[in-house]
Amino acid sequence: MPFRAVVLTKDPDAPAPHVAITTLDEADLMPGEVTLRVSHSTVNYKDGLAVTGRAPVVRRWPMIPGIDAAGVIEASDHPDWHPGEAVLLNGWGTGETHLGHWAQRARVKADWLLRIPAGLDAAQAMAVGTAGYTAALCVLALERHGLGPAAGPALVTGAAGGVGSVAIALLKAAGWHVIASTGRAEEADYLRALGAAEVIDRADLSAPGRPLAKERWAAAIDSVGSHTLANVLAGTRYGGAVAACGLAQGMDLPASVAPFILRGVALLGIDSVMAPRPARQAAWDRIAAALDPAVLARMTTTVSLEGAIETARRIVDGGVRGRVVVEIG
Ligand code: NDP
Repeated sequence: MPFRAVVLTKDPDAPAPHVAITTLDEADLMPGEVTLRVSHSTVNYKDGLAVTGRAPVVRRWPMIPGIDAAGVIEASDHPDWHPGEAVLLNGWGTGETHLGHWAQRARVKADWLLRIPAGLDAAQAMAVGTAGYTAALCVLALERHGLGPAAGPALVTGAAGGVGSVAIALLKAAGWHVIASTGRAEEADYLRALGAAEVIDRADLSAPGRPLAKERWAAAIDSVGSHTLANVLAGTRYGGAVAACGLAQGMDLPASVAPFILRGVALLGIDSVMAPRPARQAAWDRIAAALDPAVLARMTTTVSLEGAIETARRIVDGGVRGRVVVEIG
């Protein structure tokens, strides 16, 4: 059965891959127990890296980008999964080493699938996507560390981005006083509508800083890395914790050990790609229980496959607000 897909091919003469919307056949798909009819995907930061070639995330050519999928099972060789079931998939190397989901069909490993939680449809599951499910992993990590709203405010960096937007909504729903750090002052009303109590300029955090600073927050979710993460650690209250999941400013961490050894601050690393199934299920359960659909809608825009390519080129420069759903059609 022929299907439409975005296909990246390596261009030996250019840093960016060649990008085209092509017709493929199911015989082009990679091995897996379950074939999906993909109805929706998303544009994540990593898809931007794949499409622009700005970082070598694609390890197999040709590649279909798209690290997230929602859709319906078309065929299954696995006893746990049956045709007609509505499922979602985040990461596991799809869009990197295994063909991704900006395509009408995908063939994947059965162990990679989760059922779409009750209360969410496929489009809403993708409005959450990897960015949102990572935000939920961050919130759960802070809670496992013993932190809650009584400890003090929670900071979210990269606030107007995908991870940041969902993090604000989930923290607010859990009762936190949320401080949003953004480089886009014009998005202050948007951030307040998601649940931010305060909006600060990211320039406060993005330059080289001191090893310790005034204690301003008890917890933080950082999708920015580099000097920002160093300053976030330096401004964390005694006994607080920072969940670090991103590198929008950079992959480096020019920090000192002072926050760790003088204030007992914890740095909690968050990975969504290879996170085990129980952690994923817990994150999706939290999303289904706590994320207000009206707030999710406020942070979501929808594009076609063509629009996904254009959005991927903008997201790596911080030019996308909130979450972007790809309607595969
Ligand atoms: P987005 O592009 O949607 O958001 C990133 C935000 O970071 C931007 O919106 C912007 O927010 C801010 N930002 C961008 N550039 C800079 C800069 N140079 N300095 C400071 N802030 C900057 O991406 P996502 O939210 O989808 O992803 C965010 C990060 O998290 C990425 O690095 C991504 O790779 C990572 N990630 C990691 C995962 C994991 O498993 N660990 C999973 C998902 C994402 P504003 O305009 O508000 O300042």
